[in-house]
Amino acid sequence: MDEKLEHLQELDSRFVMQTYKRLPVAFVRGQGTKLWDSAGNEYLDMVGGLGVTVLGHCHPAVTDAICAQASRLIHTTNLYYVEPQAELAEILVEGTFPGSRCFFANSGAEANEGALKLARKYHFRSGSPRSKVVGLLGAFHGRTLATLSATGQPAKWAPFAPVVEGFEHVAVNDVEALRQAVDGDTAAVLMEPVLGEGGVYPLDSGFLRAAREACDATGALFIADEVQSGMGRTGTFFALEQSGVTADVVTIAKGLANGVPAAAFMARGELSEVLEPGDHGTTFGGGFLACAAARTTVKTILDEGLAGNAAAVGATLMARLESMVGKVPIVTGVRGRGLMLAVQLDRDAARDVVVKCLEQGVIFNDVSPSAVRMLPALILTEEEAMAAADTLEQALAGIAGD
Ligand SMILES: *Cc1c(COP(=O)(O)O)cnc(C)c1O
Repeated sequence: MDEKLEHLQELDSRFVMQTYKRLPVAFVRGQGTKLWDSAGNEYLDMVGGLGVTVLGHCHPAVTDAICAQASRLIHTTNLYYVEPQAELAEILVEGTFPGSRCFFANSGAEANEGALKLARKYHFRSGSPRSKVVGLLGAFHGRTLATLSATGQPAKWAPFAPVVEGFEHVAVNDVEALRQAVDGDTAAVLMEPVLGEGGVYPLDSGFLRAAREACDATGALFIADEVQSGMGRTGTFFALEQSGVTADVVTIAKGLANGVPAAAFMARGELSEVLEPGDHGTTFGGGFLACAAARTTVKTILDEGLAGNAAAVGATLMARLESMVGKVPIVTGVRGRGLMLAVQLDRDAARDVVVKCLEQGVIFNDVSPSAVRMLPALILTEEEAMAAADTLEQALAGIAGD
């Protein structure tokens, strides 16, 4: 038995609130798509810190940027101008959402909170306040009170009631229900172009277009939560691009700074002037360290065309996974875009599959009891993708045979 791991488990159980169902492993080192645990075992990482380490672990350019910034200046607050924040904003706006402006936060939930506040203020300012927000059943937007209320899993609300008012949820890809729900009282439509925590469900392009049309018809804002699907993961910088739809406000977080906490919401045109001094702020958001890491991360994704790699390697991996349908008895389907993929099982065996693969040195995530998710670094090679798929297939076949 691994004594270091046992010691950590003892500390964790005594001193850390038990809010996570952790797997029995402690990683102590990472490089690229590889991780090493406290006993020295090597793993191929197909989870990437839940879609966070988009450039792989300890990417040298990001590490250099963090070290250089840490020895120069780490914090002054937004009372003053922050060099890496302004430069990051320029790269993000020019490279991903021309004509917008950014607000920097620290987490996905905070970015969504800010976007929702912007939507309310936009309507308030126009003289007819609106508070209704239409979202999707199964969606995930965070764990603060407002983003929990936006999250389309009403079963999770009861212990924290009352939730924030005004959120309505319709079924994924149900155009008629969406058209019914979005009306003159709707401040915003909030959706993930590919549902992440909900189980990796890409929205139909037609559904996204219908949402855009409903917003245009009623004056509601279209907020795209690209916290998980953004940063090139699905084959384009934003997943929404693939449907030809433009959002009014986009939120990003997870992969933004390759592991340093960082998030942003970006609003286009005049919407970027809605929030004014005193309306919104944060102590840590847009700080030197996070922005230095994010500046290098975003620049690397754009300069190296990593969204293209996610599209290419993702397509090969998807085809390989699809070859398991009909061949491995418990696999019923594969879904996703780029390097945001899930394999659906016919039973609640995802945790068992994840544990088996972990023992074989490949890390997957059980996004639901019956689905195995992949969110690897965008630098994943085809060879690594095939090796991961082989390990997954063996584990699935083993469970099917049990
Ligand atoms: C992870 C996630 C969030 C919440 O991000 P945190 O940084 O955990 O607050 C919000 N929306 C989506 C789509 C996410 O995947």
